[in-house]
Amino acid sequence: MSLKTKDRDVFDAIAREKERQQNNLEMIASENYTSPAVIEAMGSHLTDKYAEGYPGKRYYGGCENVDVVETLAIERAKKIFGCEHVNVQPHSGTQANLEAYLALIEVGDTLMGMDLSCGGHLSHGHPLNFSGKHFKIVPYGVNRETGRIDFDEVREIALREKPRLIVCGASAYPRAIDFKKFREIADEAGAYLVADIAHIAGLVAKGCHPDPVPYCDVVTTTTHKTLRGPRGGMIMCREKYAKDIDRSVFPGNQGGPLMHVIAAKAVCFKEVLSDEFGEYIKRVVSNSAVLAETLMENGIKLVTDGTDNHIILIDLRPIDVTGKDAEALLQRSGIIANKNTIPYDPQKPFIASGIRLGTPVLTTRGMGADEVRQIGQFISRVLKDRDEKTIAEVKKGIMSLCGRFPVE
Ligand SMILES: *Cc1c(COP(=O)(O)O)cnc(C)c1O
Repeated sequence: MSLKTKDRDVFDAIAREKERQQNNLEMIASENYTSPAVIEAMGSHLTDKYAEGYPGKRYYGGCENVDVVETLAIERAKKIFGCEHVNVQPHSGTQANLEAYLALIEVGDTLMGMDLSCGGHLSHGHPLNFSGKHFKIVPYGVNRETGRIDFDEVREIALREKPRLIVCGASAYPRAIDFKKFREIADEAGAYLVADIAHIAGLVAKGCHPDPVPYCDVVTTTTHKTLRGPRGGMIMCREKYAKDIDRSVFPGNQGGPLMHVIAAKAVCFKEVLSDEFGEYIKRVVSNSAVLAETLMENGIKLVTDGTDNHIILIDLRPIDVTGKDAEALLQRSGIIANKNTIPYDPQKPFIASGIRLGTPVLTTRGMGADEVRQIGQFISRVLKDRDEKTIAEVKKGIMSLCGRFPVE
């Protein structure tokens, strides 16, 4: 029996979500729209299969087909990132980080990560997250004036605190990350280096961001952000850590892998290997640059005064509106974005003084420089004018733009 007949409530909510995606401009930097092929693999019978273990070494019978799928995902990921070993089973980016940390260090050890309020992720040491609860955390931030990572400061903290592990990577940092510098500091401090490329993995895959693989002991990522795959995680590492990483994932921190999601990861990786994806990612980055330029031309202040990647972080303080209010104003205009703290934010995280924007979804829909320039003007108007007339006009413009760029 079809979903529509069997459960109309869920069916309708899914249909309305599809409509919402079509009729709004999705600019949350961590989101993307997956291809129908990825969705098809995710909605397959592979969800039924228990496959604890790894290809060829399972604890259950009947794994011959899921073995094919997981092996394809692994081989393709290795080809994309040029890494020695890959584990495609982590259920999420957060879980991948937990598994990476526990493969390398012990509970109670010192872990150094970027402060959440400066652009880091919860799983890099937030007190309410497992990372902050189970490890001794030494945070590093960004420079107050430039908004950029200050390597003199990172080095000073690392040499003073001697963390056993340094995690680099961020969720709201609009600039490229210098993994080589982090490696030098980690070596000096005697620490493992983990790069979390959850946001920038698609850029790294196509050479649009410096490559962490040569410099890091372990690299973790999500598969659903710029990589445009299913919601999930992945861990890459040098061969010498392969056994420890695999054991930390299963049986360390997970049971049965989500084989339908792993199949969708394999499909995503095939897409990522194509030249078309290279063109896509280049456009994500050039669209982001055009958006940053347009916003700044219209008097909007950006943290670090620009971007190197797909992320833009607006500092709303000069125009005297909070992140919470700006998010609501944009949503009423058909633009979906999230409030975000800016470095050393005077507001609480739930109010915040920033808005984070990203270009992955616009680019997936086929938009280019002309459309992005128009969007930048729309955003500037909504944030500065904040009146009903502007909101209505912008909403109309966004609806027409959305109509011209249908979601696949
Ligand atoms: C998004 C993100 C994650 C976590 O991803 P989930 O799948 O939501 O757990 C981890 N690290 C960074 C840097 C991220 O941006």
